[in-house]
Amino acid sequence: MAISPRLCASAVKINSLRLCASAVKINPLRLCGKYPPNLTFFAVKMTILHKIQRSSMHHLFYKLQIPNRQSSVANRTSQVANRKSYIVHRKSSVVTLLLLFGLTLSAQTDTLRLIFAGDIMGHAPQITSAMTAKDQYDYTPCFKYVKPILEQADIAIGNLELTLPGKPPYTGYPMFRSPNALASALKSAGFDLLVTANNHSNDARGPGVVNTIEVLRKEGFLQTGTFKDIRDRSTLYPLMIYKNGFKIALLNYTYDTNGVPTEAPTVVNLIDNEQMAADLAEARARKPHFIIVVMHWGLEYQLTENAVQREQAKFLIKNGADMVIGSHPHVVQPIRMERVAMPDGSEKEALVVYSLGNFISNQQQPNTDGGILFQVDLLKNKGNPQVRLGEHGIIPIWRYIHKNAAGKSTFYALPISRVEQNDKLVPGMPLTAQSSMAKFADGLRKRMKYKELKI
Ligand SMILES: [Zn+2]
Repeated sequence: MAISPRLCASAVKINSLRLCASAVKINPLRLCGKYPPNLTFFAVKMTILHKIQRSSMHHLFYKLQIPNRQSSVANRTSQVANRKSYIVHRKSSVVTLLLLFGLTLSAQTDTLRLIFAGDIMGHAPQITSAMTAKDQYDYTPCFKYVKPILEQADIAIGNLELTLPGKPPYTGYPMFRSPNALASALKSAGFDLLVTANNHSNDARGPGVVNTIEVLRKEGFLQTGTFKDIRDRSTLYPLMIYKNGFKIALLNYTYDTNGVPTEAPTVVNLIDNEQMAADLAEARARKPHFIIVVMHWGLEYQLTENAVQREQAKFLIKNGADMVIGSHPHVVQPIRMERVAMPDGSEKEALVVYSLGNFISNQQQPNTDGGILFQVDLLKNKGNPQVRLGEHGIIPIWRYIHKNAAGKSTFYALPISRVEQNDKLVPGMPLTAQSSMAKFADGLRKRMKYKELKI
């Protein structure tokens, strides 16, 4: 009886792949810890070859069975059942093949997950609520519900829109001066990088700029946008980040410092086309895989970006930015893929998040009671510098102020969909707060119409 060489070959192929998948899944876990990578791959290869031989025998046997059954009318039902089982077997093999394809791809792909959070504000009621005793502050509770999300990022980035002068008086609007304890709470919440060029950079004057930088660096943050002096800037700017096989350049600028002059020798990066073009040229010269520019721009409370932001975004893209992330309006503005004609005639497109809104604040104006986390996976094949965007989308955040029986407040940054999935997540959250959150979420979702990530 003839065996179809095509079927047999494909059967062997499919099965060996299935077995490869299981070998790849099991063996590296066992082997990686013990052997160098080359030996690990050799061991996996040998396992695969062995399993291919076994699967070939299995399929040969399986194919030989089918013609015998065809000769018996009495075994018709059994034959149909076997055909079905064979089809199921083939289907599961195809699924396995796809799984293996995914495994192979992921083995060859570097991934970097970035999460960008909006404005981290320090209004007076936030300072009061964080006070635990005289000159003692604890902001840890504020971030307990977002911590599991931020921790999933390879790099979580936020805009620190306040200063850390290191000593009282601690003040809210209009001169934001918060206790150092806020920095340690942000670190333990999972933030890795804070940008500090914004209109409040100079709220504690020159010493405040320096102390903020020193506190953040001591806490282990990457930080950029403001500098102790020009030497600090020339050494550390553009900020280069090396992670998961990626080399990223990150830049940060603000439109102004609320008219508070920058005291020498400190430096606050201002939006200035000539300076930004020079910095981007410097970034490009360092041959990063990806360039991100975080901009503090736009008009407060405007739900759409303005022409100046669009023009600046295009300028940055033309000069090398691969992604632009915005903050300052305190409300969420659109996310758009902007297209720019490059000097060589080609067209470049880059994602621009015009404004992330607030991450945490005490602002009361419409739409300022929340914001988004923007999460994006950068992907690149090993050995290939070309970066592409993987899954990306928004995670809506709402600021909730909980008041306990004694009237003491606690500020929380809440991941909205987690609260929607479990209305008991935040103990004691009243219905009025839940409906305010729903109102914010509804408005945001209607306006943005952007992919919301499942968390
Ligand atoms: Zn601002």
